[in-house]
Amino acid sequence: MQKFSFPAFDTIESYGHEQVVYCSNKELGLKAIIGIHNTTLGPALGGTRMWNYANDDEALKDVLRLSRGMTYKAAVAGLNLGGGKAVIIGDSKTQKTEGLFRAFGRFVEGLSGRYITAEDVGTSIKDMEYIMMETRHVTGVPIELGGSGDPSPVTAYGTYVGIKACVNEVYGSDSVKGKKIIVQGAGGNVGKHLCKYLSEEGAVLYVNDIDKEKLKYVVDNYKAQIISDDEVFSKDADILSPAALGGVINDETIPKLKVKIIAGAANNQLEDEVKHGQMLKDKGILYAPDYVINAGGLINVYNELEGYNRERALKQASGIYDIVKKVIDISKRDNIPTEAASKKIAEERINDVSNAKRIRIYRDVKLFKQRNI
Ligand code: NAD
Repeated sequence: MQKFSFPAFDTIESYGHEQVVYCSNKELGLKAIIGIHNTTLGPALGGTRMWNYANDDEALKDVLRLSRGMTYKAAVAGLNLGGGKAVIIGDSKTQKTEGLFRAFGRFVEGLSGRYITAEDVGTSIKDMEYIMMETRHVTGVPIELGGSGDPSPVTAYGTYVGIKACVNEVYGSDSVKGKKIIVQGAGGNVGKHLCKYLSEEGAVLYVNDIDKEKLKYVVDNYKAQIISDDEVFSKDADILSPAALGGVINDETIPKLKVKIIAGAANNQLEDEVKHGQMLKDKGILYAPDYVINAGGLINVYNELEGYNRERALKQASGIYDIVKKVIDISKRDNIPTEAASKKIAEERINDVSNAKRIRIYRDVKLFKQRNI
């Protein structure tokens, strides 16, 4: 008899997931894993990533890590959403077909709304259109298709108010006027909107981007000064706002930093959440946890589920100010890094809601009558 070595349950349990769904269709070349981490607060929402993983194990670990992250992100943002994510194993440049995404869409539909998908690294709006042919449980789609469109302006606005909360903590006033702010990835979708908000309030902007064409727009419109790659981490300034890529706060960059605040939209800024969160605290740098301050994107798609209205999404994103303040307060109260403080807030909210849901509501009174109870 064939022997299976299948340590999946150990791995799943170690991340605390509710459900992990393997989706397969050999003819269409579909190999996907959907991770549903926690649905206490609501349906598990998170994008579908298509990536050429080296093996199934790497794909499983990625989906478990990413979906757990979504649980924390939604919980701390105060949204009634759980954490989910999906990965499709394959090359996004050569292996995409209509059939593959429609088959995936049918698996999503089969989960009856326990998982809601969206675009992510390696997937596009076109792919979402195919998924939407098979399921309603897709979000973050273009306005023409009844969706909320580009989330970047809302993400940038949430980041802007999060920066103000940090400035208030460090300098005693919300104003960014005259504050020297470094924006990495300033030419990108979030970066350019963020630069607009900051420059309108009179911040002094130092910008960097590998795409010089995109950077020109920011320099021309927001009187920003271009700095070198090295200066992004070593320049004497008040705030560093990473808006490009992950892992930029690490053993190499932390010793060079001269800023008092790190607050930006980029995902997974700390190369090692625990170690580098502690190193920033020890150095007296206030770090706004990335998934707290960049939650505007998630807030935007959450609004899509309720019938989209950009004004309402922006208003909700303005709440990131108070959330960042709360994270800072807990961090000071418990003498822990801000990263750990935001996890604590998320876990407490999930526990409280889980506790509240233990109170049963029996709507079907007839059942009792029929049984003569
Ligand atoms: P984007 O691709 O539009 O912008 C990223 C910018 O960074 C680009 O202009 C790119 O040229 C630049 N860049 C890439 N590598 C660089 C490097 N080594 N040095 C300097 N610049 C570099 O992406 P985006 O949508 O603006 O997102 C930016 C970050 O924010 C990403 O980490 C993303 O995951 C995160 N984020 C975005 C949203 C959103 O609503 N778009 C929501 C949450 C989080």
